[in-house]
Amino acid sequence: MDLGLRGKVAVVTGGSSGIGLATARVLLEEGMAVAICARDAQRLEQARQMLATYGDVLARPCDVLDKAAVTGLLEAVQDWRGQCDLLVNNAGQGRMSTFADTTDADWAEELRLKFFSQINTIHAFAPLLARSGQGAVVAVNSLLAYQPEAQMVCTSAARAGVQNLLKSLAGEFAPDIRVNSVVVGLIESGQWERRFEARDDRSLTREQWLATVARNRNIPLGRLGLPQEVARAIAFMGSPAASFITGAQIEVSGGLSRYV
Ligand code: NDP
Repeated sequence: MDLGLRGKVAVVTGGSSGIGLATARVLLEEGMAVAICARDAQRLEQARQMLATYGDVLARPCDVLDKAAVTGLLEAVQDWRGQCDLLVNNAGQGRMSTFADTTDADWAEELRLKFFSQINTIHAFAPLLARSGQGAVVAVNSLLAYQPEAQMVCTSAARAGVQNLLKSLAGEFAPDIRVNSVVVGLIESGQWERRFEARDDRSLTREQWLATVARNRNIPLGRLGLPQEVARAIAFMGSPAASFITGAQIEVSGGLSRYV
């Protein structure tokens, strides 16, 4: 199947690591030009160098919570290619805390991250996406939106709100821009690397620790997912091959959800 992405332009937020980096690579392999952003300029440059072997990449340091920086990213993309056909809102991370140990400041920070990492970029790129004729937004969201976990209480609530927001936007932007999401389970990435480094049982190797996580979480496919397994779903949802899909989500979780 030809996804129809060749010659088009994508912006991937959080493109220096994990799911965002894998997505940038898949989109380049599909023939897109890809702009990536993240906050850490050094890690971003390393990603740019790696991705440059696959195609035409623009890398720009940008905190998606900083409106002026997002405007700068938009201007850089306009100068570079003058178009944007796909926006992948991926930047972010989860917060481990129960209701008892989440402060008001934590709530405010988490809600701001989850909502404004969508709002700021969509505000900025909507005019270019609308001009594309085949514009699409794909948000990387978590299964927690539908299946909350007590130890990630504010991330779960924020994720659910974001799914609601995306549904509204799918209606508001139709028929010009499709808006969809990929809801992920546990995916091996920078986040899990950090959790592995902070593990209690130091005797476990990375493989043993990941296998224990998969077993404890009862993931039916028996392992965590790989970033490229999410990236392929993002590429499809963001492509003209998904031209009649909007306001929808694909679950990439190895079967982790328990709802129907
Ligand atoms: P990584 O930590 O590997 O990658 C996160 C990326 O986002 C990095 O490039 C990071 O770079 C960037 N980033 C974080 N905050 C910002 C910001 N404010 N502005 C711009 N860039 C930012 O994690 P994942 O690949 O796992 O995460 C991708 C998305 O998937 C996240 O939204 C995450 O919450 C979500 N997710 C992941 C799950 C998993 O199991 N891996 C589960 C559920 C959801 P830098 O720090 O330099 O800014």
